[in-house]
Amino acid sequence: MEIQFLGGASEVGRSAILIKDEKRILLDYGIKVDDKTEYPMQAAGVDIAVLSHAHLDHSGFFPSLFYGNYPTTIATKPTIELSELLIEDSLKISRRQHLKQAFFKKQLEIFAKKSIKYEYGVPVDNGDYYITLYDAGHISGSAITLIEKVKNGKRLIYTGDFKIEPQILQGSADIVEGNVLLIESTYASREHPDRGELIKKFIASIKEVLDNNGTALVPSFAVGRAQEILAILYMNKLIDYTYIDGMAKAASEIVINYPEFTRNKDILLGALKNAHWIGMHASRSEPLQRPSIIVTTAGMLNGGPALDYITKLNKNSKIFLTGYQVEGTNGRLMMEGKPIKINGRRFKVEVPYEFFDFSAHAGKSDLYEYVRKSNPETVICIHGDEENTKLFAETLKLEGFEAYAPKVGNKIKIDF
Ligand SMILES: [Zn+2]
Ligand SMILES: [Zn+2]
Repeated sequence: MEIQFLGGASEVGRSAILIKDEKRILLDYGIKVDDKTEYPMQAAGVDIAVLSHAHLDHSGFFPSLFYGNYPTTIATKPTIELSELLIEDSLKISRRQHLKQAFFKKQLEIFAKKSIKYEYGVPVDNGDYYITLYDAGHISGSAITLIEKVKNGKRLIYTGDFKIEPQILQGSADIVEGNVLLIESTYASREHPDRGELIKKFIASIKEVLDNNGTALVPSFAVGRAQEILAILYMNKLIDYTYIDGMAKAASEIVINYPEFTRNKDILLGALKNAHWIGMHASRSEPLQRPSIIVTTAGMLNGGPALDYITKLNKNSKIFLTGYQVEGTNGRLMMEGKPIKINGRRFKVEVPYEFFDFSAHAGKSDLYEYVRKSNPETVICIHGDEENTKLFAETLKLEGFEAYAPKVGNKIKIDF
């Protein structure tokens, strides 16, 4: 078997792995969204394509597979619907930026219609392989993929993005044992803060803003983070103050439609029922006239209603960043004390901000724990920057694993 890395190796973004064996199996086909969009290398002659989860760095290029002969496509139900939502939005953005389109709405529709909907833990016979999806604990519908060769029982595992420590709405990732492990490495050299302490600090800081008659603006990624934040606010009895706006609304509706993929679905249901939905029960000016919390996109302030609100906040307000801010994004510019860009204009954010690491990825020790429990002969470290993947692989070698940190374009031959 040969494994080729078409993207997402020694980098985060445009995840794409092509397995060449009896069949050609593609694992994810994403894009990298920076100032300009970057695509993975061409994947030709794909027989089976597996989509681990909806985030664009895994799903964004998937519809380009749907010209001519379609591969057998595998994903969970929420992954398919959430991907449709995010990819459609990315198509709109690329049209606005007059970028060349690699696919159109038609391909997106075929993708949504043709994909085979998998349940967690149920192996499906795909000819030479049994393919099983397991819970990755990252976002709704996120999956760890197991490819088991019928002929000899050899097992290859692709983690996608995963988290072991349970979140409120997502349970712990399933540990899957196998011979070859392709593992994400985003936080291979860093631990996350204690989640309980983090939530306490977050809530205390939000309450302070409300007490001062300010607005707590919480920019959140539409899929995953927004729902988790709403759940936290609901559990801490702050949902009456909370407004939800932007793509977070549509994403939340999809997530709640598949309660079997959510832990504590009653909490999410309570949060969504009791929050004020902008555009339905409230207008955008309403939260700015009272102590309030606004949960909205974009998570890195690179568009969406968050930018509209940010120019109108009163001086007692505060911005709560809830996730990693990629270099060059407005969120990162703000953290560096620089003006942000709104519709081509520069804007200096006057209200203070705070950063909270509500990551949905495994931290350092959990990554190592996963490898030890999965106990493969070969580990391939991907989905992390060059420094992280290299360090991860080097450390695993010292523990006796055959470990690699490939770069984009590299091929690895393994006995499988
Ligand atoms: Zn993800
Ligand atoms: Zn990712």
